[in-house]
Amino acid sequence: MYLYQNEFVSKEQVRISPDDRGYYFGDGVYEVFRVYNGILFEAEGHYERLEKSARDVRIPLPYSTRHLDKLLNQLIRLNELAEGTVYMQITRGAAPRSHPFPAQAEPVLMAYTTEMARPFETMEKGITAVTMEDIRWLRCDLKTLNLLPNVMAKQHALDQGAHEVILHRSGTVTECSASNMMIVKNGELRTHPANHLILHGITRAFVLQLARQLNLPVREEAFTLDDLRTADEAFITGTTTEITPIIRIDKQTVGQGVPGPVTVKLQRAFEERLPKAAIKS
Ligand code: PMP
Repeated sequence: MYLYQNEFVSKEQVRISPDDRGYYFGDGVYEVFRVYNGILFEAEGHYERLEKSARDVRIPLPYSTRHLDKLLNQLIRLNELAEGTVYMQITRGAAPRSHPFPAQAEPVLMAYTTEMARPFETMEKGITAVTMEDIRWLRCDLKTLNLLPNVMAKQHALDQGAHEVILHRSGTVTECSASNMMIVKNGELRTHPANHLILHGITRAFVLQLARQLNLPVREEAFTLDDLRTADEAFITGTTTEITPIIRIDKQTVGQGVPGPVTVKLQRAFEERLPKAAIKS
């Protein structure tokens, strides 16, 4: 089942207009939630980010986040989802194509669930990455549907036989096409500060919290491609990728070429804090 506005319907019953501004302009915001054992993971962070994205692009949310939470949980139950994701997007609505905000349009909400196993293999073995200039706009903190630069960047990585792309602005590492970037260097965990140049990843915040609980020194400060290339460890964080080690960057080995000890320690701590049992309603 899909959630379409306030109703649960089949995919075929979702009637999104060709005039939807999400289709013309990417004029909408979205979230991807992780579900472990039927439970939405770190839901509060996702709702807060959704509210901020919607507020800053001036799309009124059709429902309170409390009501949205109720709807998403119902969707999870209806679809009997145990392990997977919930995708939800809200566009500004349908109106004849014209740049200004339409006077009449009503926001359109759509959400669905996807079953997905956890990425055990890549989390254990690590992945490879290539670097690329970050050519996106200056509000990367907003989770909007305008993902063409991210799509182009991801494909660039795949075309080179790599899994992910590490973006940089004139040599300053920002994040990846669909994940945040962290390195370990001289015992310190380093990642770009949560400003307008990166998405404020829910997993990023969760991992930084874990690191502080583990008394690992954390530096939320921009680092360079040189720092990246001389890092002892590197990994990405994301809702679907969790904590995935990077073992090669631009064909150069990171550290020993295997997931490093700090990365593995964080992965273990992450694992321990996952929701264990489904709440039956
Ligand atoms: N940066 C970008 C550009 C992303 O698309 C994502 C994941 N959607 C992330 C970072 C990671 O964010 P989160 O941990 O909330 O999934």
